[in-house]
Amino acid sequence: MTTPDLSPFTPSSVPGRDPPERRRSLSGSPELDAGFMPSASRPPLVMARGEGSYVWDEDGRRYLDFLQGWAVNALGHGAPELQAALAEQSSLLVTPSPAFHNRPAIELVRFLVKLTGAAQVALHNSGAEANEVAIKLARKWGRLYKRGAFGVVSTTGAFHGRTLAAMAASGKPGWEALFPPYPSGFTKVPFGDLDAMAEAIDDSTVALMVEPIQGEAGVVVPPVGYLRGLRELADRHDLLLVLDEVQTGVGRTGRFLAQEHEAVRADITTLGKGLGAGLPVSAVLASDRAACFEPGDNGSTHGGNPLMAHVALAVCRVISEPAFLADVGRRGAALAQVLRDCAGRWGAQARGAGLLAALELEQPVADRLVELARDEGLLCNAARPNIVRLMPQLRVTEAEIHDMATRLERARARLVAPVEVRPS
Ligand code: PMP
Repeated sequence: MTTPDLSPFTPSSVPGRDPPERRRSLSGSPELDAGFMPSASRPPLVMARGEGSYVWDEDGRRYLDFLQGWAVNALGHGAPELQAALAEQSSLLVTPSPAFHNRPAIELVRFLVKLTGAAQVALHNSGAEANEVAIKLARKWGRLYKRGAFGVVSTTGAFHGRTLAAMAASGKPGWEALFPPYPSGFTKVPFGDLDAMAEAIDDSTVALMVEPIQGEAGVVVPPVGYLRGLRELADRHDLLLVLDEVQTGVGRTGRFLAQEHEAVRADITTLGKGLGAGLPVSAVLASDRAACFEPGDNGSTHGGNPLMAHVALAVCRVISEPAFLADVGRRGAALAQVLRDCAGRWGAQARGAGLLAALELEQPVADRLVELARDEGLLCNAARPNIVRLMPQLRVTEAEIHDMATRLERARARLVAPVEVRPS
């Protein structure tokens, strides 16, 4: 268990008494940051409009978007299906309150049950919230069926969200020190290591919680058979397997769920990001074995509202089509090929699955490369100091993939260009 730091508050750490320089923007755009609580460090530009794989800033500059709202806009900016679903439902009913059923939520839940084989679904608003609910469901199951077992074994480098329990389950470097004390009962083992996972299981363990591919850690793909191995471990020790598919789910890897690549079924699967293709909606899918919530155990004011549910249903209908998923697979192969070519030229490593991909660089220059790429009209992300991540919309074209590689190559040429020394 993490020991809380109980050292007395120093005057400079008392809220509202921080010296002004600590409140200063660190992002390079202090004027735009004014009034915002600090969050991500943002460049000095304002995004104004999007269409397909492109987004424009307020100055009219166009960017090829391989961020897509952080792997969120599965159907691209301004997707017609999204616009139609929003227009249709917003004129009918936005929310009747969670105290009543609504038709879009009923249809979405039925659709997800049929598609994934889940027994029950809970609809929520963000990935972190879905994972929080998954942890609570596992704890309830432990109380009912495993003599109060509550422990969750998760992995180093994992990202499960920013609520306290989701942070406790995450293994992002530096997070332990941020907001202690965290909820107890979380143990971390290296990702991809089945022996370490087996060793971490004890009488208090109720669930194994893992991302099929670690997205935020830099698209870390585990060895083949890892998910199957986790399933076997969970079965052998009578545990729940919780798969966080917030980033990998809803078609991102070429299957509706990434766990399908290994023909594994988790007891609890969480979805978010692509589920709303740009709108905030998430889901917790529970197998018959795991489904143990009773009335009063879970809820959400906005979760399952008809507007989000109608959008998510439209998104799932499009993405779950076998032809659509096959296309994602083909586009993913094209992306992998251009990244392998880049990697070969740069001495880097390419990796990923479907349309979730990354380049691991030899040097920790990803932030600078991403900045230069933006200057070349390409948006991508530095997932780690040496890792550039690419997460385009699922309908990205091969021409756009090649254009991305050209822009990234130009950015990299500027990165390695010798600095011009002017005579003084
Ligand atoms: N789980 C995973 C695997 C994620 O990648 C993320 C977001 N990057 C989350 C959970 C948290 O989702 P949200 O930001 O919607 O809370």
